[in-house]
Amino acid sequence: MRDEDRQLGMDRAITRRDFVNGVAAGALAAGMPGVAQAARPKAVVTPEIDPNPYPPARQGMRGSHAGTFEAAHMLRDGTLKLADAEDSGEVYDLIVVGGGLSGLSAAHFFHKRVGPGAKVLVLDNHDDFGGHAKRNEFRVNGKLLLCNGGTLNIESPSRYDKWSRVLLDDIGVDIARFERDNTANATLYKSLGMGHGMVFDAETFGGKDTVLAMGGGWRGGAIEPAKLEKAPLTPKARADLARLFAKEQPDYLPGLDQAAKKDWLARHSYKEFLTDKVGVDPQVYWLFQMIGMASFCVGGDAVPALFGWVQGYPGFSGMNLGEVPADLFADLPGGQHGRQREGDKSIHFPDGNATLARLLVSKLVPEATAGRTQEDMGTAVIDYAALDRPGAPTRIRLSSVVLNVAHKGDPASAGEVAVHYAKAGKLVEVRGKAVIMACWNMAIPYLMPELPAAQKEALAYGVKGPMVYTSVAVTNWRPFVKLGAANFHCPTMFHQEVGLTEAVSLGDLKHPQTPDEPIVLHLVKYMNKPGLPRRDQHRVGRAELLAMSFETFERETRRQLQRMLGGAGFDAARDIAGITVNRWGHGYAYTYNSIYDPVEWVYSESPNRPCVIGRQPFGLVSIANSDAAASPHTDAAIQEAHRAVQEVIERRTYPFVPRRTA
Ligand SMILES: Cc1cc2nc3c(=O)[nH]c(=O)nc-3n(C[C@H](O)[C@H](O)[C@H](O)COP(=O)(O)OP(=O)(O)OC[C@H]3O[C@@H](n4cnc5c(N)ncnc54)[C@H](O)[C@@H]3O)c2cc1C
Repeated sequence: MRDEDRQLGMDRAITRRDFVNGVAAGALAAGMPGVAQAARPKAVVTPEIDPNPYPPARQGMRGSHAGTFEAAHMLRDGTLKLADAEDSGEVYDLIVVGGGLSGLSAAHFFHKRVGPGAKVLVLDNHDDFGGHAKRNEFRVNGKLLLCNGGTLNIESPSRYDKWSRVLLDDIGVDIARFERDNTANATLYKSLGMGHGMVFDAETFGGKDTVLAMGGGWRGGAIEPAKLEKAPLTPKARADLARLFAKEQPDYLPGLDQAAKKDWLARHSYKEFLTDKVGVDPQVYWLFQMIGMASFCVGGDAVPALFGWVQGYPGFSGMNLGEVPADLFADLPGGQHGRQREGDKSIHFPDGNATLARLLVSKLVPEATAGRTQEDMGTAVIDYAALDRPGAPTRIRLSSVVLNVAHKGDPASAGEVAVHYAKAGKLVEVRGKAVIMACWNMAIPYLMPELPAAQKEALAYGVKGPMVYTSVAVTNWRPFVKLGAANFHCPTMFHQEVGLTEAVSLGDLKHPQTPDEPIVLHLVKYMNKPGLPRRDQHRVGRAELLAMSFETFERETRRQLQRMLGGAGFDAARDIAGITVNRWGHGYAYTYNSIYDPVEWVYSESPNRPCVIGRQPFGLVSIANSDAAASPHTDAAIQEAHRAVQEVIERRTYPFVPRRTA
């Protein structure tokens, strides 16, 4: 073992991980099929599959974990044959492919419309439900800690349409009560003197890493050049920065009228605008290269400059572009260039939108948990064995990779659809009187070869953005207080964002109030290749992500935290209590982008958009999921679920009397 690995605590990682959740993994692994003891390295143990039996508490490589995609990739590559599937004899009123927020919402809306007696099967390839909306649990020194493994928050709740709000109401989400219960938490970090921070890494800037507290803000218009006094910037970069933030700004697109300027800004990147038109030093662009990444998984080189104007980034004040409309494009599906409405706070539960998934499951399969209310979900336990019980109105079947969906006969007149899936090494057939594909658009052409060619082409158009959320449990957060920052912008390090998880409590789950208590850190890594066209950035990023082992993630995570926090007393070997890497090779839905796609796809509800062509119903099959709206948002996932259920209801006569029309 390398000295550095020992110093970072790689050698002690497995022992700590095994006992952090109160179980000896070795003992458990011995009884688990497919987890061979001999396969576990002796010194540095970095499991791709953690044998902890409770999915939210599993550490190691999570997100799209091993077992979720291999069979689908074999199907894509033509190496898997469906002919030998075993017919289970099961027939459902509705089969939902995909147990994310869209699939669970579809099951909910369907039951609500059809009434008692309906039988629904939800199939998902993961060992946990929720899709991207996953929960990471840790237990450190006896205390339960949470973090979102994916979907972070209810973003801009006022933008939610009627059906998204109906769903939140149905499952008992009370945003006002949550905010009220967290009034003190909202100012906790600020009260401890913490704001934002930046890390100027040695590889990019030379010398040593420089860690700076930036106070209230660093992003876009909120950057305070005065706070950069100790930054390792060249005199030229400082002069350019002063010019960029000066009160008097030149017009960087002289000779164009307002409409032509906006058109130029829509078709060129913010990077082109800053470097070619404003002419700033590359060090200045470094400060802004993450623009849009949290929404699109690509940064300033692939995000339209117009987005920078809408978001309040600098450079536009002398260009006579007029006022930024408060709700510009916010209500378009996808809201690609929208911005949050003033005063419309996003709601972050301690496990993110996994709270929504858990509330949906508590409604769909009440036997699986005693938790009923929003507050219960802080500590509620799910009985995963109860999710798929014969006779239940809803069965949620996990670890089931759907491989084929085909009508039994002519799609125009067939009465059933056969769904083939792989589970525990077996191929199984189930049948549905209707099917909703709440999975990922680009997978649907492989699953449904019978679709028309133009629809398959449209479904394959969007490329989901790959990204990683790494959750790190630590025994204390004193270094953050000492450095005066609760989160850091570090765009040229392994993870580009590092911070304390948001200060929120839910029911009996209380957020730590003092830096001596354990907490979870939330680290974000976007996988992209600046310079390539956007969809290629996603493809290359995904390939690189899939090639990265958990061991690489663990080493790089420990190394990065040591570099950033070591000067403030952090010791990776001593202070890290657990690591969960949430790998999302297929992350955000692809949103249309005016640099690469027709402008009308971005600024109108054009029926020519691939998402509209792709989501058309076919025979007994409807298509939900957030890709169907080309929007990486939870409300889109819910809206599309409602539309798909509506299509199912409209084309079938059920033996049940619809209870109501809502
Ligand atoms: C890291 C991350 C953070 C996000 N943060 C936010 C946020 O803060 N706010 C927000 O509004 N949105 C956020 N999103 C977007 C998020 O994707 C949506 O909010 C929403 O959860 C999407 O739901 P969905 O059901 O459409 O898709 P998914 O959550 O992807 O669910 C689809 C499910 O179908 C499964 N599936 C796919 N193929 C198959 C198959 N062949 N067989 C069986 N199952 C299959 C998938 O594995 C998945 O479990 C985030 C996304 C990511 C990746």
